[in-house]
Amino acid sequence: MAKKENKNIADLKFGATIEYAPAPESNAHIEIKKKYELFIGGEFVAPEKGKYFPTINPATEEKLADIAKADATDVDKAVKSARYAYDNYWSKISGSQRGKYLFRIARMLQERAREFAIIETMDGGKPIKEAKGFDVPMAINWFFYYAGWADKIEYAVPGKNPEALGVAGQVIPWNFPLMMAAWKIAPALAAGNCVVLKPAETTSLTALKLAELIQEAGVPPGVVNIVTGEGDTGAAIVNHADVDKVAFTGSTRVGKMIQKSLAGSGKKLTLELGGKGANIIFEDAAIDQAVEGVINAVYFNQGHVCCAGSRLFVQEGIAETVLQKLKDRLKTIRIGNPLDKNTDIGAINSKKQLDTVQDYINIGINEGGKLYQDKCSLPKKGFWCKPTIFTNVSQASRVVQEEIFGPVLTVQTFRTIDEVVELANNTYYGLSAGVWTDKGSKVFQVGNQLKAGVVWANSFNKFDATSPFGGFKESGFGREGGLHGLTAYLK
Ligand code: NAD
Ligand code: MN
Repeated sequence: MAKKENKNIADLKFGATIEYAPAPESNAHIEIKKKYELFIGGEFVAPEKGKYFPTINPATEEKLADIAKADATDVDKAVKSARYAYDNYWSKISGSQRGKYLFRIARMLQERAREFAIIETMDGGKPIKEAKGFDVPMAINWFFYYAGWADKIEYAVPGKNPEALGVAGQVIPWNFPLMMAAWKIAPALAAGNCVVLKPAETTSLTALKLAELIQEAGVPPGVVNIVTGEGDTGAAIVNHADVDKVAFTGSTRVGKMIQKSLAGSGKKLTLELGGKGANIIFEDAAIDQAVEGVINAVYFNQGHVCCAGSRLFVQEGIAETVLQKLKDRLKTIRIGNPLDKNTDIGAINSKKQLDTVQDYINIGINEGGKLYQDKCSLPKKGFWCKPTIFTNVSQASRVVQEEIFGPVLTVQTFRTIDEVVELANNTYYGLSAGVWTDKGSKVFQVGNQLKAGVVWANSFNKFDATSPFGGFKESGFGREGGLHGLTAYLK
């Protein structure tokens, strides 16, 4: 045995990289079809115009499958089948029967968790350990949780005789494809609605796999319809006259357009949009724990997280220490093959998103920001971005104000609580924030003043199906998760 490989972990200096052998998750038995059709009325049907678009693996640029492109005619068919299912089956059966279907979906998803995780990783570029440890379990949780509500709807809003809305049109983004589908479908069905859902164009596969599973689960035809396509397909759903409720997660730009086009239509609307979360570290915080939390908050899922803690505020006395620890930690981060179980940072979701992130990095440099990137090497093929830190930035910097949606952190310092509250709230967004301190009283003092839908204390990016999630200001309105997420689908 070679001596150098026999290094004792205790002998390694902090920040030294331990070399792991590659540990790829096998995708040998994963079946991805060459071509995917639309899921309408319980069947897989070809789009009227016969158009398809490719979906690729962003880590290899290999084509995975052709995906049907739905136009307004296909969307109309999907909405009609949802309406038919609503009128004829879904509104006729009891809540406990609806619950049984949802429990069945949850259990079947649990049985096939590995397959869904691998496909999520291949289609979207996220590390397998996240797909397996976060995305898929969260999706399962959402189905289990809302399955439990299905026969208790009248207790959700006591004395109000709640009723389903009818047909919900749902449009979701590419950052948590299966999880977002579950967040949308589970509460809608539990409350008694039927749905037409469109996944994002770069990540349709797990939603289509879910359609197969829903078909196998024997859910009545038309209760769930999955139509694939791009922005125009989404617009056709949103603007369809027979849709009673629209739920959208995605960019603030598209969210605003949807809000305008629905004004006066009487349709119910929830919007989950962008964010620019503040992460605040006080001098009395457990620093190593906070550094780990910051790394998770901004580099988790390549920074493709609407609630990412992408603005770091460090109290002046510990700023140098924290920055050095962040850099040391970045040296040990593994970026590369998303299917490898050791990988921390996977591929950027698309060429388009990589261009956006790189544009912002250039903007940051041109604004006078000081860039830090570790010297790690990147794979030759695919879309990659090194974890990036900007110091020497101010409130006026675009990299501080605008959502980058990539692995880019800005670092600013502060002295007092009042100062940091003002800095943290000085943003168009208001989705999430984090506070790191040893003092419980400070958590409440600061947390109560932060204008964010969720404030984490000594943690970040923690989710639970029972707990509502959503934003303020340009981060949107309405809540997903918990009882709030259910009432969004009730009259
Ligand atoms: P996007 O808003 O363009 O796309 C999100 C979804 O909306 C996709 O399914 C898309 O096909 C659909 N869509 C696009 N135009 C539409 C329209 N006019 N009407 C109805 N649906 C439409 O977001 P994107 O281009 O994928 O990403 C751009 C930015 O969006 C990101 O950089 C980030 O700022 C933000 N984003 C936010 C989230 C989030 O979870 N809040 C997720 C992904 C992206
Ligand atoms: Mn893809």
